[in-house]
Amino acid sequence: MFCRYCGKIIGDNDQFCQYCGREQNHLGSSESLKKRLKLTELKTPKETKNPGVAASMGFLLGWIFLGPVGYIYLEQWNWFWLTFIVQLFAIPLTFGSAYIVLPVVFAFHQYQMAKEINGNIIAGRDGKNADTDEAGIVNEDSNSKEEGV
Ligand SMILES: [Zn+2]
Repeated sequence: MFCRYCGKIIGDNDQFCQYCGREQNHLGSSESLKKRLKLTELKTPKETKNPGVAASMGFLLGWIFLGPVGYIYLEQWNWFWLTFIVQLFAIPLTFGSAYIVLPVVFAFHQYQMAKEINGNIIAGRDGKNADTDEAGIVNEDSNSKEEGV
């Protein structure tokens, strides 16, 4: 099977991925659940995003049916398509009342998402630095000691 996080091939019953070290959850691994998680999973862009810009885009563009465009700014194409489709059905199904609610929902959600993305970027940078420090320096030290003896 494939690691849920880094996508590399690991043993079918491995509890932890040998490449990224993250735990594999075998219990909730039904195909539909995997797809749903993939669909709403946040991508981590290289640059941090401005929550104020994201919220403004969601609110202002929401009035002209372009609320999902804010997700493109946040580089979350899965969320763009998901909300684009939801919006198509939500407005006629609620007899137009969704039109009033959607700009606020987009603004709030995109603001929160920008903050979460920024948090993930910072956490990712810290995580990578810590990993390379441990793996690189510690291994070199133990190797040189062995060679010396
Ligand atoms: Zn992995």
